[in-house]
Amino acid sequence: MSHDDTPAVVAPGATIGVLGGGQLGRMTVIAAARLGYRCHIFCQSPDEPAAQIAAQVTVAPFTDTEALDRFAAGIDVATLEFENIPLESVEYLTARTAVRPGAPALAVAQDRIKEKDFINRAGIATAPYRAVANPRELISAVADLGTPSILKTARLGYDGKGQIRIETDTDPEAAWAQCGASDATGGAVLEGFVDFEREISVIAARGRDGAITSYVPVENRHANHILDETIVPAPVSDTVAAAATDIAHTLIAELQMIGVLAVEMFVSPDGTVLVNEVAPRPHNSGHWTIDACAVSQFELLVRAVCNLPLASTERDADATMKNLIGDAADNWPAYLADPAARLHLYGKTETRAGRKMGHVTWLTPRMRS
Ligand code: AMP
Repeated sequence: MSHDDTPAVVAPGATIGVLGGGQLGRMTVIAAARLGYRCHIFCQSPDEPAAQIAAQVTVAPFTDTEALDRFAAGIDVATLEFENIPLESVEYLTARTAVRPGAPALAVAQDRIKEKDFINRAGIATAPYRAVANPRELISAVADLGTPSILKTARLGYDGKGQIRIETDTDPEAAWAQCGASDATGGAVLEGFVDFEREISVIAARGRDGAITSYVPVENRHANHILDETIVPAPVSDTVAAAATDIAHTLIAELQMIGVLAVEMFVSPDGTVLVNEVAPRPHNSGHWTIDACAVSQFELLVRAVCNLPLASTERDADATMKNLIGDAADNWPAYLADPAARLHLYGKTETRAGRKMGHVTWLTPRMRS
């Protein structure tokens, strides 16, 4: 049985349960608190960024059904802040409380093969791809798609982890081992290499009533496979911006999800837009909305899951967002001294190479519609 068939508004004062305790959860807690909600974080350690500032915290494995029972009993609605929560846990919770977005959207986003199948079925293009279950299948997939191509684990990869570029002289056995594909990752997918001009993303939201809204497309620049900078708005033609927005709206509608969906896309030099992947949650490329918009992507999530009006996604300014990765966050005094910089730190105690420790947003007067 699903508990998500009540259209009732979850009014300020209620408790929102959040599965996951990372920085996305933390910024959701802050947005929720601003509107008078409490958050209950379900996570793996009491020191996680969202747990540090939440009204209530449950520290337990996602598979702990007793902990899920207690969590469900103390909240009014649930959401999630990362994809790799076991589907069974979300399904278990769905029988006890409204979970927005629900398990179907999560199932698609968790598995690159299901995701690309879904996107193509919705009439939207991706890079060409083949599901690959072993090195032998990799050989025939490479024969189909050519080189260079990219081998990615179907599940559990992020920030370039679980990915390897296949060249003409790549040994399939070695590539398979190096990418870390296994039964636990649902095998792998080989993708044709996209010679893109730039990467963009659109963050859309959908409410309980089916209303859809989105922010302007933004450009994402990566360093070492991790998002480094987001440029707002993306310097693309109106045609490309409209196509990207249309894709995001189509996908969130097709997923019938309530919440926030980030859609990452490649733009080719000829203006073709291909979807890379989707995330049914707030996204790193939407952090600028905290400082540049009346309603941030985190507040938009709160509004969607609580059945409040989605309101405006208009921006007051253009923006550049820079991630503070690893020891780059040690430069916080310089950012504090920069009157134009808006600094956000996530409270992570341990600095590690490649770890997202915070971000900075700079606003500039709005130049384009
Ligand atoms: P992903 O984990 O799928 O978001 O991939 C991480 C990054 O690798 C992307 O943001 C791209 O910069 C690059 N990448 C991923 N897939 C492809 C592809 N098929 N062709 C070219 N570059 C890719």
